[in-house]
Amino acid sequence: MVSALSAVAVGQGNDAVSFEPDTNRIKSHLFFLADDLLEGRDTGSRGHNIASLYIATEFAKYGLKPMGTDGYMQPVAFRKATLVQESPSFTLTTDEGETALAYPKEYLTGPDVLNQTSQLSGEMVFAGYGIIAEELDHNDYADIDVDGKIVVILSGKPESFPSEMGAHLASGSQKAQYAVDHGAIGMISITTPTNEKVRPYQSRLSYIHTPSLAWIDSEGEPANRFPQLKGSAYLSEGAARKLFADAPVSLDDIYAQLAEDKSPKGFALPGKVNMSKQSQHSQITSPNVVAALEGSDPELKNEYVVFSAHSDHIGFAKTVKKDNINNGAMDNASGTAVMLETARLFSQMEQKPKRSILFVSVTGEEKGLLGADYFAHNPTVPVSSMVADVNLDMPILTYEFADVIAFGASHSDMKASVEQAAANAGIELSPDPWPEQALFTRSDHYAFVKQGVPSVFLVPGLKSKDPNVDGSKVFGEFLSTNYHKPSDDVNQKFNWDAARTFAEVNAQIGYTLATQQQKPTWNKGDFFGETFAKDRQ
Ligand SMILES: [Zn+2]
Repeated sequence: MVSALSAVAVGQGNDAVSFEPDTNRIKSHLFFLADDLLEGRDTGSRGHNIASLYIATEFAKYGLKPMGTDGYMQPVAFRKATLVQESPSFTLTTDEGETALAYPKEYLTGPDVLNQTSQLSGEMVFAGYGIIAEELDHNDYADIDVDGKIVVILSGKPESFPSEMGAHLASGSQKAQYAVDHGAIGMISITTPTNEKVRPYQSRLSYIHTPSLAWIDSEGEPANRFPQLKGSAYLSEGAARKLFADAPVSLDDIYAQLAEDKSPKGFALPGKVNMSKQSQHSQITSPNVVAALEGSDPELKNEYVVFSAHSDHIGFAKTVKKDNINNGAMDNASGTAVMLETARLFSQMEQKPKRSILFVSVTGEEKGLLGADYFAHNPTVPVSSMVADVNLDMPILTYEFADVIAFGASHSDMKASVEQAAANAGIELSPDPWPEQALFTRSDHYAFVKQGVPSVFLVPGLKSKDPNVDGSKVFGEFLSTNYHKPSDDVNQKFNWDAARTFAEVNAQIGYTLATQQQKPTWNKGDFFGETFAKDRQ
């Protein structure tokens, strides 16, 4: 037998419980969700619907309260836009004449979710990185007028920007917001030498067929879009040279400034740009699955600690012939399996935590954290009642790790509960080994962060209990060999003891957060707390 959970006192604190995850259950959830029959669980696909039904059925088995809008389900309507590959055109008109840029060889442009026919023409203004950051005393729009113009901006951000904060400020949607706030009508991004190292233009060509999705808001409009921007493009270095041919500052000078981490000043660019393209639109529906375990405290049960994990993956691989199913065993059948076992463990507790626990299985993560963003904007409990999010995404469960990494832990007082949970499981909490990746901004919890909810997202660390296993090598190999490939399947060498430890640590964190008297708070002066949680409490 495997006891679900024993609520035995092991100390004086309110965290005096021990969790005993059942590895057979984690394994069977994972194997079901990553089966070929589910065809890679693409958002809106039958395979993903089956996965969602499975998750809802498990929630029902544990006696959890349905918290969707249709039982456990929260169906989300999406508009899906696909670019007609033959359609894009881009011409630059100057005193010298007309130059056409070739798609996709010289520039890229994505599908337009708002318009099936997109047309943009206008004059251009170079606006540095296109970022405004008061806290860093940086304003690329300070001395330029872009009203009614197309902004031309450098991709990325100054190297001196702190990584996670910089990832937010330099995101496409933030840059679009700054541009729109200043009256721009279009946005052209150009590559930089730094960007070519991180994500070469050539590598982007593999994604030109990828559709764009947006969730539909209550007015029937795609959310998080900027109707004022009539067109956008991403230019290769070669194309950028053509744009800057007669510019007051040459592209080489601008690149030279970047090499010294200086932020180039903006200026008007000579010439006029004409861009057009066609996109095809369709509508799909795909569910989040939501369930709650009611807390034991008459007051605190109105507050929720959220566990989130995405159930979707990327469906079929288009370029692979034989085994073309992206099973997403690690991404994110593993996190979902751990969340389901966590839900069961909580449901079996004799003494429930004081606060309620909300389990949210989200769709559309692979399309840009869309299901989580929809839920964070349309939560089935008041947003102010969600006191924390603990996110589970792609834990690599193939070796017995001796530490965990907790993205977001340094932004709130949740770090203490993470440290304690790790210590209880006999492992350590390690600092983020990849600060430059800004992983804090790259999974579903970030949608909750943007609504002011303090969040934490754990992954197994790189230290191994087995001296013969190099955790960082295992991790690197997963990324290069299996990540977003059909080989992320159940044939990987899972270590179920690692799965147990991972579930134990996350359950413990959730329990502490749901039982401690004070709700989690952002650290004083924290950028994310200041930016997103101003009006909370
Ligand atoms: Zn993924």
